Amino acid sequence: SHRETNTSAAAPAQTASQADARHVLHPWADLSGLGEQTSLIISQAKGVRVRDSAGKTYLDAIGGMWCMTLGYGREELAEAMADQARRMAYYTPFGDLSSEPAARLAERLSQLAPGDLNRVHFTTCGSTAVESAIRIAHYHFAAQGKPAKRHVLSRINAYHGGTYLTQSLSGKDADRTLFQYEADFVHHLSSPGHDPDRSNVSAAEKLQTLLEEMETEILRIGADNIACFIAEPILASGGVLTPPEGYQKATFEMCRKHDILYISDEVVTGFGRLGHFFASEARFGIQPDMIITAKGLTSGYQPLGAVMISDRITDALAKAAPKDKPVFSNGFTYSGHPVACAVALANIEIMEQEDICGHVRDVGPYFIERLRELRDNPIVYTVRGDHLMACVECWTGQDAGPNAANMALAQKVDAYCQDAGLLVRPYENLCIMSPPLIIDRTDIDRIVATLSDALAKAQADLAAGNI
Ligand code: PMP
Repeated sequence: SHRETNTSAAAPAQTASQADARHVLHPWADLSGLGEQTSLIISQAKGVRVRDSAGKTYLDAIGGMWCMTLGYGREELAEAMADQARRMAYYTPFGDLSSEPAARLAERLSQLAPGDLNRVHFTTCGSTAVESAIRIAHYHFAAQGKPAKRHVLSRINAYHGGTYLTQSLSGKDADRTLFQYEADFVHHLSSPGHDPDRSNVSAAEKLQTLLEEMETEILRIGADNIACFIAEPILASGGVLTPPEGYQKATFEMCRKHDILYISDEVVTGFGRLGHFFASEARFGIQPDMIITAKGLTSGYQPLGAVMISDRITDALAKAAPKDKPVFSNGFTYSGHPVACAVALANIEIMEQEDICGHVRDVGPYFIERLRELRDNPIVYTVRGDHLMACVECWTGQDAGPNAANMALAQKVDAYCQDAGLLVRPYENLCIMSPPLIIDRTDIDRIVATLSDALAKAQADLAAGNI
């Protein structure tokens, strides 16, 4: 039988950690440790805390991966998923078939989104939503007889996903290594991050330089060849980079002037992280043509992504679709999965009942203010962030940036944090934080105190020549 010939069943039982080391290729794995590196297996979680398989508890300042917004172990969310799974776990969303949770969620999202973003194209995650938005932009112009309008403006340090096209849109050379890219229609403008603490140009000067570059690039490529501009309002995985004041509005207006669609990637900044369901309008005063959401949409309880599309675009799509082939050929088996949509609906309900956005507007500034105290440590190059997204950038005091020495130092900080029961996200020479939105002042104080100790220890190591 299958069982008798299955040799792995007869082998001595591996621990989950061994099985992981032997068989899993992780996203963004460190290949130098492949096969040997043991992963931290997180097995249980409640509120803002997670527990590993050995029973050690950590305060999760990473918030899963920017996504765990309402915190772990919410019964209402588990119940919403279980109810839907029992009633109808799945049916195809293709063509004219739908499910109640998807229809209801689209309705709710349209109410929450700015302007006339009244149409939702569900996907499975952030990457597939970004890909779909680019395809919609292409379809939009091709259907109007302007197929040349296909080029895409993105930015250095942007992160838009892990698929082929979204990695091409992402702007980190370090992520490319030996991968091939087919990005002849993607153009990267300069990274718009401006750190007033560490910059010798003013925000106004920086803004002007960025806008001049953008306009020059538009004129060089030709507005008739450009479909869209895609932008995270604050660049998340690129290192929590905040553009100078007025940048989002000014780039939006430039796009309008040149008939370039504006796609706002709110996968991280949406759903409360900056204190609003969507930051585009509430914080930055723009009504994009499309907004991408994922992650906090379900509080991370289920994978789900969505492109929210303006009526202006969808009406144009419908009008211009070829009569003999009026099919919008984009979508996935699990687009708008009913269980994911059910949990998203429950998530929105709790967010409103508990005024999670109001809570973030309350504790967010406190989080940043407290973290900024860490700048007193000489190995902190800078601390930057906005509400509940933040990062501490480390340096040895020599050259700033993601060089080997600074990265080793940040890794030390991360290891000391982990020892002390705090998870921060080590990324190059940064410690990135995006705690669950329900975090309170006491836990914020704990994060700062633990980080402060970890920084002091790493600084002592550095001073003793041990790094
Ligand atoms: N856009 C942004 C801004 C992101 O941060 C991410 C994920 N970190 C994505 C898109 C891709 O989302 P996913 O990993 O769900 O595909």
